[in-house]
Amino acid sequence: MTDPFFHPVSGFDLPRFAGVPTFMRLPHVDMDDPKLRDVQVGLIGTPWDGGTTNRPGPRHGPRQLRDMSTMIRAQNGATGVRPFELVNCADLGDVGPNPASVEDSLERMTAFYDRVVEARIIPLSAGGDHLCSLPILRSLARNRPLGMIHFDSHTDLFASYFGGMQYTHGTPFRRAVEEGLLDPKRVVQIGIRGTAYDSEDRDFADSVGIRVIAIEEFHDRGVEDVMSEAREIAGKQETYVSYDIDFVDPAFAPGTGTPEVGGPNSFQALQVARLLDGVNIVGADLVEVSPPFDQSGATAFLGVSIMFEMLCNIATSVVRNSAA
Ligand code: MN
Ligand code: MN
Repeated sequence: MTDPFFHPVSGFDLPRFAGVPTFMRLPHVDMDDPKLRDVQVGLIGTPWDGGTTNRPGPRHGPRQLRDMSTMIRAQNGATGVRPFELVNCADLGDVGPNPASVEDSLERMTAFYDRVVEARIIPLSAGGDHLCSLPILRSLARNRPLGMIHFDSHTDLFASYFGGMQYTHGTPFRRAVEEGLLDPKRVVQIGIRGTAYDSEDRDFADSVGIRVIAIEEFHDRGVEDVMSEAREIAGKQETYVSYDIDFVDPAFAPGTGTPEVGGPNSFQALQVARLLDGVNIVGADLVEVSPPFDQSGATAFLGVSIMFEMLCNIATSVVRNSAA
């Protein structure tokens, strides 16, 4: 049993619409708080969308995700896992970005995550656009490349946009491979679809050995079979999980900037995260929720529900690693 300080506020004690909305009603532990040393999993907001190439808005994601996350209860309905009793979890607040500078924002994020890594805390981040994953990986993978299981309708592997711009939400994993942050042979991208500019991203994936599972194959094979291959590709070594909400069909997740039709439904969206069971997860993110395109909060509610599924598997992964 974990320290009760880190248990979320229960809806049995305080109605879920009341109180200050932290992620999943966890305690807010500031990066300078002495309690930080007891945190094992940190939920972090990265409210920044300066890498967005089309419709912006994910800078507002963490706030809406926190609000909708008050709907999350302590126990996984399908697996019975109670993550908050397995590991000490806390809301570590937001990284303060610079909305007027891409480079400065990337540096601020890496500096923040360096402190998270130094404190031996596993980050579960809420975006922000998908470029936020790059500064996170720069901290997490500083000393060795990681594997990655990536859910998205896009590869985010393009070389550049707008005549040489290296940093957009369409390029983070190209940079991450170039910088040695990812081991491409242990990277799998799931759900890729939609019209394309060209095949440059897919050619790059093929050339470095990234496994791309397009949506046609996903629907043909089914969730279980695809995720069994994904777990095999990641292996037992350290793996990052990156989840772009536009992986999900826009009928279920309209609140995002670059939707693509023909995707998984909300149940399958949860299933793939649940089937990360057994993966050695060293960090995860849920990105690209854009509240201006879904003010109902339905997309954000799906987003935090996916985060909870990932959190359950992070918690069991921590317990497994500490027993080993
Ligand atoms: Mn993406
Ligand atoms: Mn995407």
